[in-house]
Amino acid sequence: MKLYPLFADLRDRSVLVVGGGAVAERKAAMLLEAGAGVTVGAPSLSPALEAWAASGRVVHRAGTFVPEWLDEVWLVVAATGDGALHQRIAELAAARRIFVNVVDDASRSSFQVPAVIDRSPITIAISSGGDAPMFARLIRERLETLLDHSLGSLATLASKLRKRIRLRYPDPSTRRSFYEQLFSGPVADLVRRGQPVQAQAEAERLLASPVDPPRGTVVLVGAGPGDPGLLTLRGLRALNEADVILHDRLVSTEVLALARRDAERIAVGKESGHHHTTQDGIHALMLEHASKGRRVVRLKGGDPFVFGRGGEELEFLRVHGVPYEVVPGITAAVACAAYAGIPLTHRDHAQSVRLLTAHCKASHDTLDWPALARERQTLAVYMGVSQLEAFQQRLLAHGRAASTPFALVENGSRPEQRVVTGTLGRLARRAVQQSVKSPALLILGEVAALAGSLAWFGAPPPGEVLLPLPGGAEPGRAPDRLLAAIHQA
Ligand code: SAH
Repeated sequence: MKLYPLFADLRDRSVLVVGGGAVAERKAAMLLEAGAGVTVGAPSLSPALEAWAASGRVVHRAGTFVPEWLDEVWLVVAATGDGALHQRIAELAAARRIFVNVVDDASRSSFQVPAVIDRSPITIAISSGGDAPMFARLIRERLETLLDHSLGSLATLASKLRKRIRLRYPDPSTRRSFYEQLFSGPVADLVRRGQPVQAQAEAERLLASPVDPPRGTVVLVGAGPGDPGLLTLRGLRALNEADVILHDRLVSTEVLALARRDAERIAVGKESGHHHTTQDGIHALMLEHASKGRRVVRLKGGDPFVFGRGGEELEFLRVHGVPYEVVPGITAAVACAAYAGIPLTHRDHAQSVRLLTAHCKASHDTLDWPALARERQTLAVYMGVSQLEAFQQRLLAHGRAASTPFALVENGSRPEQRVVTGTLGRLARRAVQQSVKSPALLILGEVAALAGSLAWFGAPPPGEVLLPLPGGAEPGRAPDRLLAAIHQA
């Protein structure tokens, strides 16, 4: 975090604005709104500032800046347009440990003023840390349209009832449900329709109705492959409502960051050589927290039901009478294919797609290898990278052509995504050469060659620019863009 966000109480605290023009005027206006005691120091003032000074809303210090102006102020805003003066003000303020904001100059500022959405008492502030102020403003515009103007009145109503709500619902999780009802039910509707009296009466009625004992639940949520944009809206809601989140290793930090701040997060990742929780341990944790009336989110990479052991978890919950829900997620095969530009069932190349996990140990192997070796079908293989050699051998032994294209998608949909392409005959070797690491998904089949021309996300496939060879020995990627560039040159 580049800047520490804080909301300052400036009521009746003196703040100095240096400058008397339009920018100083805007800064002074916002400070006045927050109740600050504003002094404006400048040789001359804009008409509005002039009027405020005349009516006593601001104090005017006439003249050019002198260090004494900094005596007894809490903050200073420099808005003169004079770089050298700004530098001096910044240095003098720093020496006195007074926070200074130099307008449009993040490097000289020790505090910055965010883009603000005001639904008082709710205030939302957005900062880009000075790096992209325009972007912060755009975000504000988006949020402005999303957030109803009645939000402030609703929050005021809630604040009036706050003490009584706390008494009535001492347990935080039931209290939260009550607030949710308040914010999304009929009370909110009445506030929105401009009927504050009826809204308050409805809120009182809610507060007087009987309290249901908290009932714990478990929501199995598919977090998707990593890109937080691929989480479903329903999944996001569950994360916002969660008291406890049991998450897997594959769940990205970006997705976890979307969850309610004060939800308890428990990593139950399974990773060889690291601390891990057994499947029974996960079951026990779900039961323990749900029995206490908590809302548990069991957050899994991809989709909970695709090689995710979600089925076992539901069976366990059913036996123990814990209510549950399932929120699907975008599974790695679907996400990796999309983010690598591989249409899994492109009608020219494949009529089916199979999701499989290949544990090539004989004892676990129940796969129908002759069927997998057939042409014109796509295999999406979830597995550890160490299994690739055995997988390649089996498929070749059952007759799948060595020239069948593959794409290995490492960290699919994440910023560090990498796609390694080649043909089945060289699969394991390519993976070793390129040191492909988990999590990686293998897409094997004629469609994989399309990654070469349809890729759109992240770095293009590395190494070996595989020009289509005569005789089709190594179709690999068709470097269309490269060829186009050569033609153009
Ligand atoms: N339930 C998950 C799969 C869990 S099995 C899902 O639906 O996606 C774990 C395997 O999924 C990994 O070994 C890897 O093969 C694959 N995988 C999961 N996330 C991935 C990602 N972001 N990129 C590539 N492969 C991924």
